Amino acid sequence: MDQAKQLVTEQRTFFYTGQTKNIDYRINALQQLRKGIEKYQQRIQDALRADLNKSEAEAYGSEIRIVLGELDFALEHLQEWAAPKQVPTNSAMPDGVSTIYPEPYGVALIIAPWNYPFQLAFGPLIGAIAAGNCAVIKPSELTPAVSRLTYDLIQEIFPQEYIAVIEGEVEASTALLKEKFDYIFFTGSTGVGRIVMKAAAEHLTPVTLELGGKSPAIVHNDADLKLVAQRIVRGKFLNAGQTCVAPDYLLVHEQVHDELIDMIGAEIKDKFGDDVLQNADFPHIVNARNFDRLSKFLTDGKTLIGGRFVREQLIIEPTVLGDVNWESPVMQEEIFGPILPVFTYSDLNPMLDEIVRRPKPLALYLFTQDEQLQDQVLNQVSFGGGCINDTLSHMTSHYLPFGGVGESGMGSYHGQQSFDVFSHHKSVLKRSE
Ligand code: NAD
Repeated sequence: MDQAKQLVTEQRTFFYTGQTKNIDYRINALQQLRKGIEKYQQRIQDALRADLNKSEAEAYGSEIRIVLGELDFALEHLQEWAAPKQVPTNSAMPDGVSTIYPEPYGVALIIAPWNYPFQLAFGPLIGAIAAGNCAVIKPSELTPAVSRLTYDLIQEIFPQEYIAVIEGEVEASTALLKEKFDYIFFTGSTGVGRIVMKAAAEHLTPVTLELGGKSPAIVHNDADLKLVAQRIVRGKFLNAGQTCVAPDYLLVHEQVHDELIDMIGAEIKDKFGDDVLQNADFPHIVNARNFDRLSKFLTDGKTLIGGRFVREQLIIEPTVLGDVNWESPVMQEEIFGPILPVFTYSDLNPMLDEIVRRPKPLALYLFTQDEQLQDQVLNQVSFGGGCINDTLSHMTSHYLPFGGVGESGMGSYHGQQSFDVFSHHKSVLKRSE
């Protein structure tokens, strides 16, 4: 029997013992996970430095802290989430009592990407454990140091019939996807999302797909430009732009364009130093293939800021491009790097039409104090989630389910939603006779 088949069989057998359904078992598992992460913290930071050149502060702030926050929130609320919920019964059945019982699906598969390789493997795992499932994690092969520590950490704290890690390239995913899982949670590109969903369809396995896309940021003429510059620079250049919810491109009111570009330039210097290519803590591009894909975009417009790169170190400095159009190559795919194309507008309506015609974005950011405009954009444009007068921060809230829509994904997680997404909600109507 091959490794994937054997593992799924072992996990399913273990799941049927019923142990993972016990709430104390789940709480203990989450506590073990917390201890394991604390013990491995330095190794996690070292691995993120080795794979992506993330600084210790960035590794902690954008990966470890988020996972620990989700863990603590789950530990605090698990009893309440897992409790059966009574709901009203139709008046035609006065003797009926209606109850919804959350129950685990069984054996879950979690496939993770490379850009936040720790957070995006362990974040979903918290939901899978909290809901009472067994789980197999497949980390990304493009971040080998994090992949190895994920294996070591999980192997140290959990028996493999409960939680296991299978490392490897596409073949490892393909072999896993042939097996029948009870839930698949995939984070990655839209193209691979399609492959995952097709494979899941063979077994009628439900899926969550956390995908990517081109997320616009809109800056209106009444916005506080200093704050906009700070928040755009943080959101765009964190992890060198390799963030699924990074603002992909900017739409700026023509009256404030020049001032905003100056402020973005000043903010980049303030945050990353006068010469980002010399900044030892600026993350690099994950590999040469992505570097070459990105560096081609640098000629798709006029360089307003940055534009330099060092291929040997896989670094591209934060770059802002003007004079782009909707047909430019840089506007045909998710950029996923430190390059920010900027459009100007005098009338936002044609820009909104353009966004609506394109695949639904994972995120949208709008900077304005004008509440009518806020309502208009929220009404008119469908997107996964986003912020008004900020970037990224919607994904750090335990109370906002995080996910995409259309080509940017389906399903969501974080906070209670992570528990719910890995649970079947069993509805039962009980009559007294
Ligand atoms: P990817 O789709 O190339 O890979 C993701 C995972 O799928 C990896 O573990 C990989 O080994 C596996 N995989 C790759 N090809 C496969 C195939 N043919 N069959 C089965 N499995 C396969 O994505 P990536 O490059 O690692 O990540 C970048 C993408 O992920 C971007 O589009 C980004 O926007 C998206 N993303 C989305 C979120 C989100 O939360 N919505 C978060 C992070 C990244």
